[in-house]
Amino acid sequence: RVPVLTVDGPTASGKGTLGSALAERLGYHHLDSGALYRATALAALRQGVPAGDEAAVAAIARALPLRFENQQTLLAGEDVSDELRHEAVGSLASQIAALPAVRQALVELQLAFRRLPGLVADGRDMGTVIFPGAALKVFLTANSEQRASRRHKQLISKGISANIESLRADLEARDARDQHRSVAPLRPAEDARLLDNSALSVETSVDQVLDWWDA
Ligand code: C5P
Repeated sequence: RVPVLTVDGPTASGKGTLGSALAERLGYHHLDSGALYRATALAALRQGVPAGDEAAVAAIARALPLRFENQQTLLAGEDVSDELRHEAVGSLASQIAALPAVRQALVELQLAFRRLPGLVADGRDMGTVIFPGAALKVFLTANSEQRASRRHKQLISKGISANIESLRADLEARDARDQHRSVAPLRPAEDARLLDNSALSVETSVDQVLDWWDA
């Protein structure tokens, strides 16, 4: 049996940072499931497929030529790591993530990440839908001021200018869409451990999760 640890939570709650730190500490594989939705969105943008065309977007998701290699995300061989983080791509990702056929198209791809010695999977529905049998499920939260200010710092460090208030409005809109969609709405699994990291350092969060993992 392959051990699986899931980390779900809202936009910019720090799932990616926590997930990759945990994977590194445990020596496990890491699935950033948001990257699959973002890559689907980017491919749709480039092909001029509108978000409303569910069948066409699902076809893109099903045949997604995506690879993760040496910290890079490759789409059809091209490094799109930076482009996937653009706000426009994230916003479109959140729209297409509400389409049932798109979510279905990405299931197999996500399950394929479950390999020995183990997997840390982060996203919105890792513990509720994709890996319901996970040994440990963490639901990560942080208040929206904190999340907007972290996102702001990230963007500034990449030389991208951004307005904190509009980032916050955007992530609250995305949270609302993720929570209220009919398929795989964002919510903690019944057996999830809740972790509010608003006032915690990354190290403290990692240690807390590893304590739960070892218990
Ligand atoms: O986590 P990240 O911001 O990269 O995800 C981009 C979008 O993909 C989210 O806004 C969310 O709507 C969607 N998503 C999802 N289910 C996942 C991961 C991401 O619906 N497991």
